[in-house]
Amino acid sequence: MAFRNLKELDVKGHRVFLRADLNVPIKDGVIKDATRIKETMATLKHLLDSGASVVLCSHLGRPEGIGFEAAYSMAPVAAFLEDDEGLDCRLASAVTGEEVEREATALKQGQVLLLENLRFDKGETKNKPDFCSSLAKLADTYVNDAFGSAHRAHASVAGVVPLFAKNRIAAGFLMEKELKALGTVTHNPIKPLVAVMGGAKVSDKIDLIKNFLGKADAILIGGAMSYTLLKAQGIAIGSSRCEEDKLDLAKEILAEAKAKGTKLLLPLDHVVAPEFKEDSPASVTDDVAIPDGKMGLDIGPETNAAYICEIKNAKTLIWNGPMGVFEMDAFALGTLTIAEEMAKAADHKAFVLVGGGDSVAAVNKAKVAARISHISTGGGASLEFLSGIELPGVKALEI
Ligand code: AMP
Repeated sequence: MAFRNLKELDVKGHRVFLRADLNVPIKDGVIKDATRIKETMATLKHLLDSGASVVLCSHLGRPEGIGFEAAYSMAPVAAFLEDDEGLDCRLASAVTGEEVEREATALKQGQVLLLENLRFDKGETKNKPDFCSSLAKLADTYVNDAFGSAHRAHASVAGVVPLFAKNRIAAGFLMEKELKALGTVTHNPIKPLVAVMGGAKVSDKIDLIKNFLGKADAILIGGAMSYTLLKAQGIAIGSSRCEEDKLDLAKEILAEAKAKGTKLLLPLDHVVAPEFKEDSPASVTDDVAIPDGKMGLDIGPETNAAYICEIKNAKTLIWNGPMGVFEMDAFALGTLTIAEEMAKAADHKAFVLVGGGDSVAAVNKAKVAARISHISTGGGASLEFLSGIELPGVKALEI
């Protein structure tokens, strides 16, 4: 899809409405992790250095949507932008309204007005037209850098966009980076393309798997979702997690993979234990079957070896979802090994994209994040993009 890049936009003397993802964890007024703010700084600084003033906004947590709530105020973010990033930034008195319009109009080049939490107004999540027009009044140019919110049809990412002139709309640098990386792996990957998919439920990943059937050379499945696919083939899975109501769907996926010529690899062995507990005695199965009284909690060594072979062959790799219960050390090896192999593949010039909260946590736990080609910042948004679902916040930017 085509969208305008930030560098194609002349912003000197313009007031820019910048939708960013500043949804950082805050406890007792203190920002616990400022990564998201830092990730959008390139866009913000570019706008300010280019002579724009900026009306900056984001949602923060899940307030009730009935007005100001101190616990969800953007005040700590405004303080961070002033004190840690050295910006000339002030916090708006509200989200919208006449006073906020006055504050926006008073902005000078190089200054930032941070709106209060967009979700203080229900109009944001409900994408209400009057809320959209109140937001649009605050600036003449629209930039969206909040890829992590692009899958939601909310006012600040969707409804407000068409209220700006078509030639005054652009994607921020972070948004552009995400769209390029995700677009490349989905639409024109260098082959062989191998997708590694895991996680808790097959039902959460159906669209993802289906979107890569026929596209990927191989799909490697791990995590609890593999047991539903194994059971659908009549393989014993003991007391492993299984979605009984998805067995027919699992059969469909297996048949579709065959018909479309995508190798769908399932675990060949498993790390099992009697209970879903860190200290439950773990053992490795002899083969693919899981005996009664045991549950699969990680992929086994034979599976690991087979998956590593496929990963080594690939020129493009996508990873979404852990191979086992990696939060418990006893069942983390499969996931951590895949993380390390992904990093090695990237070292050898394969393009490796990791998306989805838990796989991102896994590459961090394996300490290989810096070696991965692209780590997507938007969990839900990247999963939907990779599943072939059109994101409202991306569609709005289309030119
Ligand atoms: P998802 O959010 O769908 O990517 O799923 C991630 C979650 O799946 C993690 O919290 C894992 O602990 C969990 N998970 C992975 N493998 C298993 C398994 N074999 N049994 C139960 N939960 C699992």
